[in-house]
Order: sequence, then structure tokens, then C-alpha cells
Amino acid sequence: MTTARAVMQRRLDEYAWEFDWATVPAEDWRAITLKGPWDFPIAAPFARAPIAEWSYPVPAHPAGLPEPKRCENRTWWSTAWRGPLMIHVGKNWDEDGEDDPRVRAMWRAVCPGLPLTRKAWTWAGHVTAVARLVDCHRSSPGCCPPWGAYATGRYAINHLILRDVRALTAPVGARGYQQLWTPHAGLVEQVRPMVPATGGAR
Ligand SMILES: [Zn+2]
Repeated sequence: MTTARAVMQRRLDEYAWEFDWATVPAEDWRAITLKGPWDFPIAAPFARAPIAEWSYPVPAHPAGLPEPKRCENRTWWSTAWRGPLMIHVGKNWDEDGEDDPRVRAMWRAVCPGLPLTRKAWTWAGHVTAVARLVDCHRSSPGCCPPWGAYATGRYAINHLILRDVRALTAPVGARGYQQLWTPHAGLVEQVRPMVPATGGAR
């Protein structure tokens, strides 16, 4: 028997993979706000080096560095929603990210000689990339390496899986919110022309 839920899920699965960035309706977008520097391993490397200089095409990912981050770790909440997602960097800074050796290795490769500090995050408070949110699941030990974190119980971690990440050709200023939020139509209009026609960072 085909349940309504199964039909909806199939539609969501298709939608996660098949849409045109230029025409997807404003109400179908969602956004997620990250703390710096966790946006960096998702969207920034090799798309903007040095700071505030944005270049395309995105250079190849240098060998020996961690894979770009395609798994966003979140405690408390999960989502059944799939589709186009704005990556927004808030004004908050996470020192665990600053100390993360993978983030530091990427930073050194992109911005040699420049310290990895909050001050360098001149794009805080901006949408910097778009992606497709294609999955969300509860973490299990060892899943979604190398960026997937694992925790169970009261502080269980969920994995939000990103694909087709495209760093915007210029960042767009926006206010951030918690969890998954729906960007207003004006923000969608600003972001849309900044989405590069072909995939940027993987
Ligand atoms: Zn996972």
C-alpha cells in the first residue's frame, strides 16, 4: 500500500536531486546558520583565498587535506525536509572549531601566513553558499567520516548531509536564526544571482 508519507518522501527525495537553482520558488528554500569557523570546511576553502577575494572556478581540492565537510553535526533536532539550503554564517564563533586540526589544516592551505581567528571572519553575518540537503539521520559510531561526530542519549547528534555545495560569487548579508529557517523572499532574490551555474566546491 502506498501511504501518503511514502509519496511525500519520494517527492522529497526527487526534489533533493532535481531542481534548478535559478527557478526554485522562494518558499521552497531553507537556511541554516553555522558558527564560524565551521562554515570554512564546507564552503570557503579554495573558493575565497585570500579573504574577501572570491574567484571561480574553484580550484581543485589539494591532496592531503581533509575532504570538504559535507556532514553538519547538530544536537537536539533533526528534520525531514530536503531541498535547497542556504549556508549562513552567524556572528558567533566556536573555539572548538578554531582548534580543530582539520579546519586549521584547510585554513593554512588557503590563507598561508594569516592567523585563523574570529577577526578574519569578515563574512560573518552572511549567506556564503548554497547546497542541497539530501539526508538527515541519527549519528552512529563511525558514520559519515571524516566530519561526522557521534553522540547518543540526551545530547544525541544528528547528521545533516549536504551535496552540490556552491560557494556564492559574493556573500549576501542576512540575519541568522536557530535550527532550519525559511529565508524571506527578498533574501532569496539576492542570493539567486550569486549561485554559480555549475558546481563549485564538491
Ligand atoms: Zn551519519
